[in-house]
Amino acid sequence: MHLIPLPALTDNYIWLLHDSDGHAIVVDPGDAQVVEDALRTRQLQLRAILLTHHHLDHIGGAATLQHRYSIPVYAPADDRIACATHRVCDRDRIELGAPDVSFDVLSIPGHTLTHVGYVGAGLLLCGDTLFSLGCGRLFEGTPAQMLSSLDRLASLPGATLVCAGHEYTEANGRFANEVEPANHLLQSRLQQVAKLRANRQPTLPVALADELATNPFLRVDTEAVTEWCARRGVVGDRVARFAAVRAAKDSFRA
Ligand SMILES: [Zn+2]
Repeated sequence: MHLIPLPALTDNYIWLLHDSDGHAIVVDPGDAQVVEDALRTRQLQLRAILLTHHHLDHIGGAATLQHRYSIPVYAPADDRIACATHRVCDRDRIELGAPDVSFDVLSIPGHTLTHVGYVGAGLLLCGDTLFSLGCGRLFEGTPAQMLSSLDRLASLPGATLVCAGHEYTEANGRFANEVEPANHLLQSRLQQVAKLRANRQPTLPVALADELATNPFLRVDTEAVTEWCARRGVVGDRVARFAAVRAAKDSFRA
Protein backbone atom coordinates (compact mmCIF):
# COMPACT_ATOMS: atom_id res chain seq x y z
CA MET A 1 0.00 0.00 0.00
CA HIS A 2 1.26 3.46 -0.90
CA LEU A 3 0.61 6.48 1.29
CA ILE A 4 0.91 10.01 -0.07
CA PRO A 5 0.18 13.32 1.68
CA LEU A 6 -1.25 15.73 -0.91
CA PRO A 7 -0.69 19.35 0.11
CA ALA A 8 -3.91 21.33 -0.32
CA LEU A 9 -5.29 24.80 0.47
CA THR A 10 -2.95 26.68 2.83
CA ASP A 11 -1.48 23.92 4.97
CA ASN A 12 -3.85 20.93 4.76
CA TYR A 13 -2.90 17.40 3.80
CA ILE A 14 -5.32 15.21 1.87
CA TRP A 15 -4.16 11.65 2.56
CA LEU A 16 -4.10 9.41 -0.50
CA LEU A 17 -3.76 5.66 -0.05
CA HIS A 18 -3.52 3.28 -3.00
CA ASP A 19 -2.58 -0.29 -3.87
CA SER A 20 -0.38 -1.44 -6.74
CA ASP A 21 -3.47 -2.11 -8.90
CA GLY A 22 -4.28 1.62 -8.85
CA HIS A 23 -7.22 1.48 -6.43
CA ALA A 24 -7.21 4.56 -4.23
CA ILE A 25 -8.98 6.21 -1.32
CA VAL A 26 -8.63 9.73 0.01
CA VAL A 27 -9.13 11.11 3.48
CA ASP A 28 -10.41 14.67 4.04
CA PRO A 29 -10.38 15.98 0.45
CA GLY A 30 -10.71 19.71 1.12
CA ASP A 31 -10.00 20.42 -2.58
CA ALA A 32 -11.32 18.17 -5.37
CA GLN A 33 -8.86 19.50 -7.97
CA VAL A 34 -5.84 18.45 -5.93
CA VAL A 35 -7.24 14.91 -5.80
CA GLU A 36 -8.15 14.88 -9.52
CA ASP A 37 -4.62 15.94 -10.43
CA ALA A 38 -3.06 13.27 -8.22
CA LEU A 39 -5.34 10.56 -9.64
CA ARG A 40 -4.50 11.53 -13.21
CA THR A 41 -0.73 11.82 -12.63
CA ARG A 42 -0.56 8.44 -10.91
CA GLN A 43 -3.27 6.78 -13.04
CA LEU A 44 -5.39 5.84 -10.05
CA GLN A 45 -9.05 5.02 -9.66
CA LEU A 46 -10.78 6.60 -6.65
CA ARG A 47 -12.87 4.04 -4.75
CA ALA A 48 -13.87 5.71 -1.47
CA ILE A 49 -13.64 8.87 0.62
CA LEU A 50 -13.20 9.02 4.39
CA LEU A 51 -14.02 12.21 6.31
CA THR A 52 -12.93 12.95 9.88
CA HIS A 53 -14.97 16.07 10.69
CA HIS A 54 -17.20 18.72 9.16
CA HIS A 55 -14.78 21.62 8.65
CA LEU A 56 -14.78 22.89 5.06
CA ASP A 57 -11.02 22.56 4.60
CA HIS A 58 -11.52 18.80 5.15
CA ILE A 59 -14.74 18.13 3.22
CA GLY A 60 -14.81 20.92 0.59
CA GLY A 61 -14.01 18.62 -2.36
CA ALA A 62 -15.93 15.54 -1.20
CA ALA A 63 -19.30 16.23 -2.91
CA THR A 64 -17.64 16.92 -6.27
CA LEU A 65 -15.57 13.72 -6.09
CA GLN A 66 -18.57 11.70 -4.89
CA HIS A 67 -20.68 12.84 -7.86
CA ARG A 68 -17.92 12.30 -10.39
CA TYR A 69 -16.99 8.77 -9.32
CA SER A 70 -20.19 7.55 -7.56
CA ILE A 71 -18.21 6.28 -4.60
CA PRO A 72 -19.03 5.84 -0.92
CA VAL A 73 -18.30 8.70 1.45
CA TYR A 74 -17.77 7.58 5.05
CA ALA A 75 -18.34 10.31 7.64
CA PRO A 76 -19.49 10.80 11.22
CA ALA A 77 -23.21 11.30 11.90
CA ASP A 78 -23.31 15.07 11.56
CA ASP A 79 -25.84 17.09 9.50
CA ARG A 80 -23.06 19.48 8.60
CA ILE A 81 -21.61 16.77 6.31
CA ALA A 82 -24.34 16.53 3.68
CA CYS A 83 -22.45 14.44 1.09
CA ALA A 84 -21.98 11.39 3.35
CA THR A 85 -23.32 8.08 2.02
CA HIS A 86 -22.24 5.96 5.03
CA ARG A 87 -22.47 7.28 8.61
CA VAL A 88 -19.89 5.84 10.97
CA CYS A 89 -19.96 5.46 14.75
CA ASP A 90 -17.39 4.65 17.38
CA ARG A 91 -15.99 1.11 16.99
CA ASP A 92 -17.49 0.60 13.52
CA ARG A 93 -15.30 -1.29 11.09
CA ILE A 94 -15.05 -0.22 7.45
CA GLU A 95 -14.04 -3.04 5.10
CA LEU A 96 -12.97 -1.87 1.68
CA GLY A 97 -12.40 -4.41 -1.09
CA ALA A 98 -10.17 -2.41 -3.39
CA PRO A 99 -7.81 -1.26 -2.08
CA ASP A 100 -7.94 -4.22 0.32
CA VAL A 101 -7.83 -2.38 3.62
CA SER A 102 -10.07 -2.02 6.65
CA PHE A 103 -10.39 0.74 9.21
CA ASP A 104 -11.64 0.88 12.77
CA VAL A 105 -13.56 4.03 13.61
CA LEU A 106 -12.71 5.88 16.80
CA SER A 107 -14.90 8.66 18.15
CA ILE A 108 -12.44 11.37 19.21
CA PRO A 109 -14.37 14.54 20.18
CA GLY A 110 -12.66 17.75 21.24
CA HIS A 111 -11.78 19.76 18.13
CA THR A 112 -15.42 19.18 17.10
CA LEU A 113 -18.02 17.08 18.90
CA THR A 114 -18.48 14.49 16.13
CA HIS A 115 -14.83 14.16 15.07
CA VAL A 116 -13.72 10.60 14.26
CA GLY A 117 -10.39 8.96 13.50
CA TYR A 118 -9.70 5.95 11.27
CA VAL A 119 -7.20 3.25 12.24
CA GLY A 120 -6.04 0.65 9.75
CA ALA A 121 -3.10 -0.52 7.62
CA GLY A 122 -0.78 0.67 10.40
CA LEU A 123 -2.08 4.22 10.00
CA LEU A 124 -3.99 6.64 12.18
CA LEU A 125 -5.94 9.17 10.14
CA CYS A 126 -6.79 11.67 12.83
CA GLY A 127 -7.86 14.89 11.09
CA ASP A 128 -7.48 17.84 13.45
CA THR A 129 -7.35 15.90 16.73
CA LEU A 130 -3.66 15.02 16.95
CA PHE A 131 -0.94 16.92 15.10
CA SER A 132 2.77 16.35 15.18
CA LEU A 133 3.95 18.13 18.36
CA GLY A 134 0.46 19.54 18.91
CA CYS A 135 -3.26 18.93 18.99
CA GLY A 136 -6.37 20.55 17.55
CA ARG A 137 -8.01 23.61 18.99
CA LEU A 138 -11.06 23.01 21.18
CA PHE A 139 -13.73 24.57 18.98
CA GLU A 140 -16.60 22.48 20.34
CA GLY A 141 -15.37 20.05 22.99
CA THR A 142 -14.04 20.39 26.51
CA PRO A 143 -10.46 19.80 27.66
CA ALA A 144 -11.66 16.59 29.37
CA GLN A 145 -13.14 15.31 26.10
CA MET A 146 -10.03 16.12 24.08
CA LEU A 147 -7.71 14.59 26.66
CA SER A 148 -9.77 11.41 26.70
CA SER A 149 -9.64 11.33 22.87
CA LEU A 150 -5.87 11.78 22.91
CA ASP A 151 -5.60 9.02 25.54
CA ARG A 152 -7.34 6.64 23.13
CA LEU A 153 -4.95 7.56 20.32
CA ALA A 154 -1.96 7.27 22.66
CA SER A 155 -2.89 3.67 23.45
CA LEU A 156 -2.46 2.55 19.82
CA PRO A 157 0.74 0.65 18.90
CA GLY A 158 3.79 2.91 18.93
CA ALA A 159 4.63 2.04 15.31
CA THR A 160 1.30 3.47 14.11
CA LEU A 161 1.92 6.24 11.59
CA VAL A 162 0.10 9.44 12.51
CA CYS A 163 -1.46 11.08 9.44
CA ALA A 164 -2.71 14.46 10.61
CA GLY A 165 -4.73 17.02 8.69
CA HIS A 166 -2.28 19.93 8.68
CA GLU A 167 1.40 20.78 8.33
CA TYR A 168 1.65 22.61 11.64
CA THR A 169 4.71 20.83 12.99
CA GLU A 170 7.22 23.67 12.85
CA ALA A 171 5.00 26.17 14.70
CA ASN A 172 3.89 23.47 17.15
CA GLY A 173 7.56 22.69 17.77
CA ARG A 174 8.30 26.24 18.89
CA PHE A 175 5.64 25.91 21.58
CA ALA A 176 6.68 22.36 22.56
CA ASN A 177 10.20 23.71 23.06
CA GLU A 178 8.86 26.32 25.51
CA VAL A 179 7.26 23.55 27.57
CA GLU A 180 10.12 21.04 27.43
CA PRO A 181 13.39 22.72 26.47
CA ALA A 182 15.37 19.91 28.14
CA ASN A 183 13.74 17.10 26.14
CA HIS A 184 16.55 15.75 23.94
CA LEU A 185 14.26 13.74 21.68
CA LEU A 186 12.27 16.92 21.07
CA GLN A 187 15.47 18.75 20.15
CA SER A 188 16.40 16.16 17.54
CA ARG A 189 12.84 16.14 16.19
CA LEU A 190 12.98 19.94 15.85
CA GLN A 191 16.22 19.68 13.86
CA GLN A 192 14.71 17.00 11.62
CA VAL A 193 11.57 19.13 11.10
CA ALA A 194 13.59 22.24 10.24
CA LYS A 195 15.54 20.28 7.63
CA LEU A 196 12.38 18.79 6.09
CA ARG A 197 10.62 22.13 5.88
CA ALA A 198 13.69 23.85 4.43
CA ASN A 199 13.38 21.32 1.59
CA ARG A 200 9.58 21.76 1.49
CA GLN A 201 9.09 18.15 2.53
CA PRO A 202 6.16 17.03 4.71
CA THR A 203 6.94 16.31 8.38
CA LEU A 204 4.18 13.68 8.32
CA PRO A 205 3.46 10.88 8.75
CA VAL A 206 5.25 10.43 12.07
CA ALA A 207 5.39 7.36 14.33
CA LEU A 208 3.09 7.58 17.35
CA ALA A 209 6.00 6.51 19.58
CA ASP A 210 7.91 9.63 18.52
CA GLU A 211 4.89 11.79 19.38
CA LEU A 212 4.55 10.15 22.80
CA ALA A 213 8.16 11.17 23.48
CA THR A 214 7.90 14.76 22.26
CA ASN A 215 4.31 16.09 22.00
CA PRO A 216 3.43 18.09 25.15
CA PHE A 217 -0.28 17.32 24.74
CA LEU A 218 0.47 13.59 25.06
CA ARG A 219 2.78 14.19 28.00
CA VAL A 220 0.60 15.83 30.67
CA ASP A 221 1.49 13.04 33.11
CA THR A 222 5.26 13.56 32.82
CA GLU A 223 7.34 15.31 35.45
CA ALA A 224 8.44 17.92 32.92
CA VAL A 225 4.91 19.02 31.99
CA THR A 226 3.68 18.76 35.59
CA GLU A 227 6.53 21.04 36.71
CA TRP A 228 5.89 23.47 33.83
CA CYS A 229 2.26 23.68 35.00
CA ALA A 230 3.25 24.10 38.64
CA ARG A 231 5.53 27.02 37.72
CA ARG A 232 2.46 28.69 36.18
CA GLY A 233 0.33 28.04 39.26
CA VAL A 234 -1.58 25.08 37.82
CA VAL A 235 -1.68 22.35 40.44
CA GLY A 236 -4.88 20.44 39.56
CA ASP A 237 -5.34 17.04 38.00
CA ARG A 238 -4.27 15.92 34.53
CA VAL A 239 -7.32 17.56 32.89
CA ALA A 240 -6.30 20.85 34.50
CA ARG A 241 -2.74 20.36 33.21
CA PHE A 242 -3.99 19.55 29.71
CA ALA A 243 -6.29 22.61 29.77
CA ALA A 244 -3.38 24.79 30.89
CA VAL A 245 -1.08 23.57 28.10
CA ARG A 246 -3.86 24.00 25.51
CA ALA A 247 -4.68 27.53 26.74
CA ALA A 248 -0.99 28.50 26.73
CA LYS A 249 -0.65 27.26 23.15
CA ASP A 250 -3.73 29.27 22.11
CA SER A 251 -2.07 32.50 23.24
CA PHE A 252 1.50 31.54 22.25
CA ARG A 253 3.21 33.80 19.72
CA ALA A 254 6.73 33.09 18.56
ZN1 LIG B 1 -10.87 21.25 11.72
